[in-house]
Amino acid sequence: MNHPELSVVIPVYNEEQGLSALFARLYPALDTLGRRYEVVFVNDGSRDRSAALLREQFERRPDTTRVVLLNGNFGQHMAIMAGFDLCRGQRIVTLDADLQNPPEEIGKLVAKLEEGYDYVGTIRQRRRDTWWRRYASRLMNLVRERITRIKMTDQGCMLRGYDRHIVDAINQSKEVNTFIPALAYTYASRPTEIEVAHAEREAGESKYSLYSLIRLNFDLVTGFSVVPLQMFSLAGIALSLLSALFVVYLVLRRLIVGPEVQGVFTLFAITFFLIGIMLFGIGLLGEYVGRIYQQVRHRPRYLIQALLEREE
Ligand code: UDP
Ligand code: MG
Repeated sequence: MNHPELSVVIPVYNEEQGLSALFARLYPALDTLGRRYEVVFVNDGSRDRSAALLREQFERRPDTTRVVLLNGNFGQHMAIMAGFDLCRGQRIVTLDADLQNPPEEIGKLVAKLEEGYDYVGTIRQRRRDTWWRRYASRLMNLVRERITRIKMTDQGCMLRGYDRHIVDAINQSKEVNTFIPALAYTYASRPTEIEVAHAEREAGESKYSLYSLIRLNFDLVTGFSVVPLQMFSLAGIALSLLSALFVVYLVLRRLIVGPEVQGVFTLFAITFFLIGIMLFGIGLLGEYVGRIYQQVRHRPRYLIQALLEREE
């Protein structure tokens, strides 16, 4: 197990209801691949029996299982980071613990990686979502692609494959609040995408609220690009030119037509509009300052409580 060909990294947060079904499908799927593999489970501070279930699974398959128990809830992407730091495989696949990504598809990813691609993204087949969810994510994709130059048809699926050198680069990045597939994409020299099957969540509930989804998308944009700031300064220039013209017009009008009281509310509307844009700009600046703040604190991104692995 010292030099496995394949590492499968799985973040686990309050998944006690689904874990045994995952074990029952994951291990046979990996056994049939015929590669030396390890499964790295990262327990992200679950408050249910997940840690105990992972421990049991480790005792059942100590040859291929390693379990990282984190000290608290650091979020899905930081949990994957912890797994990346510890995994030893030549090729690495990440997977969700909720069986939304079928473990039987890992073979397809491995095949692509062995063809020489260093990053394998995935597109979910037959996504059973409402039309407005699909429309919203298409719009988000378009915006992200324009701003960050990261091309990802489907950013929602975490079943992805990475070559060793990509994971090494990610490990060196020491970034906080990042989005792993996007970070990997920026380091990839031969990325590709394949279609994979996708299922509804079998048990338990989604750990992402609408708020954390919005946060994630913010991180995705501000973490990978300063284009929003540049666009904002361009908008600032355009608006100040326009308002300069407006001031000239008002002064001339004052001199030619005389004083005025009419149209006060029009002026209010214009002022409110400008204030709105300013507030947005301050918020945007705050996003970047916040990222810088988190980064300069140099706090550990995650704390490991215990590591379950067989002594070599
Ligand atoms: N997860 C985690 N830490 C968190 C939230 C989620 O490790 O703080 C794990 C979770 O156990 C699952 C994966 O990340 O394996 C994806 O979470 P979920 O299925 O809730 O997200 P969704 O599929 O709704 O996007
Ligand atoms: Mg899920």
